[in-house]
Amino acid sequence: MERKIESAKALVEFAVEKYPRIGVACSFGKDSMVVVSIAREVAPDIEVFSIMTPYKPKETFEYLKLMDRKMKLNTVVYIVAESIPEVFSGGSVDVRLLPPDEFQKASTRVLVESGKEIYAVNPDECCRLLKVEPTRVAVSSLDAWICGLRKTEGRTREDYQEIEHKNGLAKINPILTFTEAEVWRYLSTRGIEPHPWYGKGYRSLGCAPCSHPGGELERDGRWLNTSKCGGECGIHTKALR
Ligand code: SF4
Repeated sequence: MERKIESAKALVEFAVEKYPRIGVACSFGKDSMVVVSIAREVAPDIEVFSIMTPYKPKETFEYLKLMDRKMKLNTVVYIVAESIPEVFSGGSVDVRLLPPDEFQKASTRVLVESGKEIYAVNPDECCRLLKVEPTRVAVSSLDAWICGLRKTEGRTREDYQEIEHKNGLAKINPILTFTEAEVWRYLSTRGIEPHPWYGKGYRSLGCAPCSHPGGELERDGRWLNTSKCGGECGIHTKALR
């Protein structure tokens, strides 16, 4: 595992040199915590940004606030919402609000037509409005972003490369070959406490209604019982510019 960590650091070092406008995406899941820790060891001031949604568990907001303080991340949070979530009301976290109008219109339409929430009827559209579009905003001033993608997380992640290019934006995946066990070993040896939901049997964390514990592969609990089961929200599959 030490070899993989060194190789991840070398990749971040290369990326930071090549792309002065670079940031690390952090969902505050276990893989993000590893990649942020590695990136910060190489580049202590590297920008960290996070895409939150109103459907993330309250524990995620609390964990973000806690780890942001403990690891001195200065995280910039992007969220589609009318007002700053209560948990961030003290102003210790930099929150950028994005207009909720389009999401509100779409979710109201779905509710009126089907009596159900948008994430249950059209999770792709929900993810597009709450995750993909905000990510587009977050990376709009960057030449490259660093992610915690790993090949063994699920069937949709097997073919990613360590360096990818899409429409002038580079994506760097330093921990692509880490296994789930190696992620846990890294966090434990560095004394980085994990999000509390892992203690409840979750292996991959997203929004509360679309994350479930267990699964044969880590991402099997995502969007369970929908056509999107074990799939992707779109930030890694759609062009972001
Ligand atoms: S994960 Fe679920 S709730 Fe979150 S943005 Fe996607 S569909 Fe909506």
